[in-house]
Amino acid sequence: MTDDFVHSEKVTDAALAEMRIRKIPMTPENFNIWYEYCNGDNPGLSKAVKRLVENQAKFTDDENASLYSEHFGIKKSSRDLHEVGGQIQSVTEQVVTQLKNATDITADYSKTLGDFSKQLAKATDSDADQLNDTIRTVMIETQKVAQRNKDLEARLNSSADEIDGLHDDLIKARQEAMTDDLTGLANRKCFDRRLSEGMSNSAETGEALSLMFMDIDFFKKFNDTYGHQIGDQVLKLVAQNLSKTLKGQDTAARYGGEEFAIILPNTPLEIAVKLAENIRVNLANQVLKNLRTGDSFGKLTVSVGVARYHEGEPAEDLIRRSDKALYRAKQDGRNRVVSEEDSNGNTNLNAV
Ligand code: GH3
Ligand code: MG
Ligand code: MG
Repeated sequence: MTDDFVHSEKVTDAALAEMRIRKIPMTPENFNIWYEYCNGDNPGLSKAVKRLVENQAKFTDDENASLYSEHFGIKKSSRDLHEVGGQIQSVTEQVVTQLKNATDITADYSKTLGDFSKQLAKATDSDADQLNDTIRTVMIETQKVAQRNKDLEARLNSSADEIDGLHDDLIKARQEAMTDDLTGLANRKCFDRRLSEGMSNSAETGEALSLMFMDIDFFKKFNDTYGHQIGDQVLKLVAQNLSKTLKGQDTAARYGGEEFAIILPNTPLEIAVKLAENIRVNLANQVLKNLRTGDSFGKLTVSVGVARYHEGEPAEDLIRRSDKALYRAKQDGRNRVVSEEDSNGNTNLNAV
């Protein structure tokens, strides 16, 4: 038995035991959650599960679905990307084989022609019959090559079409690998990349760069009251609000479950704070309604932390300051915006 086998068997037993105690349905998705939790190499997931366990929360279908979408949702698109890459490689190998066959055929044909030309050089009248046979051979070979070339052309054309299609799939898969499935916003991976690009650009041009961290207030309670699916609709609504408010060069990303990060290139801190305040007020003024029943879900508020990039600092420092400002906004009562300059002292903007 290999170490891998022994280890995975142990983790599987532990995961199944945890699920059994908590009466969690043994679906592949739930098993994924608990296997990874018991394996202990996914800190984000471990933290989320631990918190639920400590709070003696019930692992309802909603909660399980939330854990799965939050911690495993992104992997599917990476898998798609991998698959398309593999398909392109296999079509490319086919084309290479086809071209190699074509080269072999052409080499055979050129040998036949070479032989024929040698015979012509040596030929006398008495060789007429033999020459006739050779001409026939050359004709047959020529027809064969022409036919094979036609087949090859058709095959290469169809390979070209296939590569074209796969190229489109690749662009789509790449796009999906950068997109959050639920909200359609940039995902964490895309956020990391755009932030790093934004910081380099700001260092080069001297333009200001601001970062906003926004978290929905009391969202757990909202989910518990109205259900995970309605919660998902709310996340989409927040995403739509962000997309509407932001300009082309800004990036709004879903940073984690109900937390959003917004990168604002060429935006000084004061402007970013005003923008954050607009978003906050817009959301707070919307009355959420169930379109089918007309029932109200009450108000939705968010807390926001804003920081600006200090040239030369690593991304973690900027993220830490935005997060600290967000934490301060939560501490000060939520439904408010706090900028890094105020996060050590007074709250910047009060809730309405
Ligand atoms: P706070 O104001 O301090 O931010 O309180 P909170 O309840 O919003 O924060 P907490 O971190 O305790 O809970 C976050 C909740 O967000 C828990 C989880 O059910 C919910 N959540 C996370 N991801 C998703 C998701 O993809 N869909 C839905 N519907 N809910 C989610
Ligand atoms: Mg929250
Ligand atoms: Mg949160």
